[in-house]
Amino acid sequence: MRDVIILGGGPAGLQAALTLGRLHRSVLLLDAGRYRNDPADHMHNFLAQDGTPPAELRHAARADLEAYDTVEVRDASADQVSGSTDDFSVRLADGSVEQARRIVLATGLRDEVPDVPGLAELWHEGDLVAHCPFCHGHEMAGRVVGVLGAERAGHLVAMMGPVAASLVVLDDDEPVDPAVAASLAERGASLVAGKVDRVERSADGLVAVVEGEPVALGGLFVGPTSTQAAPFAAQLGLTTLPSGGVEVDPMGRTSAEGVFAAGDMAHEATLPMAMAAVLVAAASGLKAGAACVQSLL
Ligand SMILES: Cc1cc2nc3c(=O)[nH]c(=O)nc-3n(C[C@H](O)[C@H](O)[C@H](O)COP(=O)(O)OP(=O)(O)OC[C@H]3O[C@@H](n4cnc5c(N)ncnc54)[C@H](O)[C@@H]3O)c2cc1C
Repeated sequence: MRDVIILGGGPAGLQAALTLGRLHRSVLLLDAGRYRNDPADHMHNFLAQDGTPPAELRHAARADLEAYDTVEVRDASADQVSGSTDDFSVRLADGSVEQARRIVLATGLRDEVPDVPGLAELWHEGDLVAHCPFCHGHEMAGRVVGVLGAERAGHLVAMMGPVAASLVVLDDDEPVDPAVAASLAERGASLVAGKVDRVERSADGLVAVVEGEPVALGGLFVGPTSTQAAPFAAQLGLTTLPSGGVEVDPMGRTSAEGVFAAGDMAHEATLPMAMAAVLVAAASGLKAGAACVQSLL
């Protein structure tokens, strides 16, 4: 029986392990080896780490954990979490079972990009297609930047206006709100109507083919659909918010006693959306780790 099992070895889980390890709590961290920012070669918007490859950050965090004898990091996938406070069981994919008094969920989100041929491949290559201007907007500076879909177009055009050379909204045959269309025109963004047939890499960026006509772009913003990467919140019956995020208080406590959540999978109800960023995930891991210690006292 360990003090805590942490599910997830991204920035949220690794920081929770560090916080718990520093108080000599016995911890098992399980990591299935799939990370949300796998498609990105470099991460941004993190002080002193701007441009660091995400794998390098995780590697350094794991190296830090080696100094703490009570922390075990294991490359393993889990498939079930059950029980209640002081008596949780976690079943691993190999059928073995581990037990702990507390659980920290840090299993992140999984993204699915819109169903446009060629888009998933470019998303996984990572340098031309992005979803977050804070993370990858600057890397598209001075280029013609596309925005796929009408839904987030107004917002993204406004955010990327000072960064991009120009902006092109591909409505992908979605209706564009007249107020949004007017704001796009005001900001000098062009609107290309029609279904996007496919996107593909070109010599100097990418090309979106819209009803047979090529539109040359230097980068493209898309809105993926994000869902929980693991089934544990549902298995434990945790309260979720309309965003799909597990509801947490500012210290990462969920609706179930003894279960904490951190990182992208968790959502504080006072915030309009889960703040999905590496630094925020690490900070929330620290808070969940500290709250765990508090609840074990
Ligand atoms: C393409 C892309 C680029 C991004 N770029 C940036 C950026 O530049 N800067 C930035 O700040 N943010 C960026 N983000 C956001 C950032 O990736 C997330 O905010 C961050 O990774 C969240 O960390 P996390 O620890 O919550 O989850 P993750 O890093 O996704 O880690 C989840 C962990 O859970 C584990 N796991 C899942 N299921 C199981 C299971 N069944 N058993 C065991 N372990 C399991 C995984 O193996 C992994 O260890 C980007 C996101 C995307 C999609």
